[in-house]
Amino acid sequence: MSRVLVVEDEAHLAQGLRFNLEAEGHSVAIAGDGESALQRLLISHEEFDAIVLDVMLPGKDGFAVARELRDAKVYLPILMLTARSRPEDVLQGFASGADDYLPKPFELAILLARLQGLLRRSDWLRSAQSANFQPAEKADPGSVTDYGVFSFSGKTINFGTLQLQTDNNTIRLTLMEAELLRHLIRNNGRVVARKAILEDVWGLREDTDTRAIDNFVVRLRRYIEKDPAKPRHLLTVRGIGYRFIAEPGDGETSI
Ligand code: CA
Repeated sequence: MSRVLVVEDEAHLAQGLRFNLEAEGHSVAIAGDGESALQRLLISHEEFDAIVLDVMLPGKDGFAVARELRDAKVYLPILMLTARSRPEDVLQGFASGADDYLPKPFELAILLARLQGLLRRSDWLRSAQSANFQPAEKADPGSVTDYGVFSFSGKTINFGTLQLQTDNNTIRLTLMEAELLRHLIRNNGRVVARKAILEDVWGLREDTDTRAIDNFVVRLRRYIEKDPAKPRHLLTVRGIGYRFIAEPGDGETSI
């Protein structure tokens, strides 16, 4: 059984979600606004396995709540509910640290499936964190496993703890950032199409705005590139997608 925090001010919708999530065997708490959600998570330290977070809330909106949680190093999976008429909500949701989103109005079955997906990923993360990892120097260069470590050009990514270690910094990746990076690394040297990233990596529908990916790539470049404006590892392939190169040769740049 998972404990889910539903953050939604529309009482009938919140109650409907509670009823259906409980029918699926989850335990559910409802917060009617962002402040009380933050209070439960950051001050009372209540334990939850996932958050269903509406963007439209009185006072602090869902973006602000997600940002404050991530700033406080709370990495609980967040499924964000956005307005369908505002594709920019999706981009902003990802930027604020949401792991997945669902436009309103949504079908309940889809919400349950998405939530299940997030819970599965966080289970995987938890078991990975409690397992023993290969030290980075013993990791097989040029390959990565689900529970593994990948090193390239002075950086080490631990996909179990979602930590990216650089020369002078440790960065905590979100689930979606880590999944994108892992997919690109697995395809080291090969072009990965934007649509494939949406569908295969994040399980999003293909009509999702592909700019969501560009937003992620900008962030990943900030983490892994010496000069993010002149990437050497995470290259844009114009009109198609992206290509990761662990060990770029001389003169290899975006085309
Ligand atoms: Ca609302």
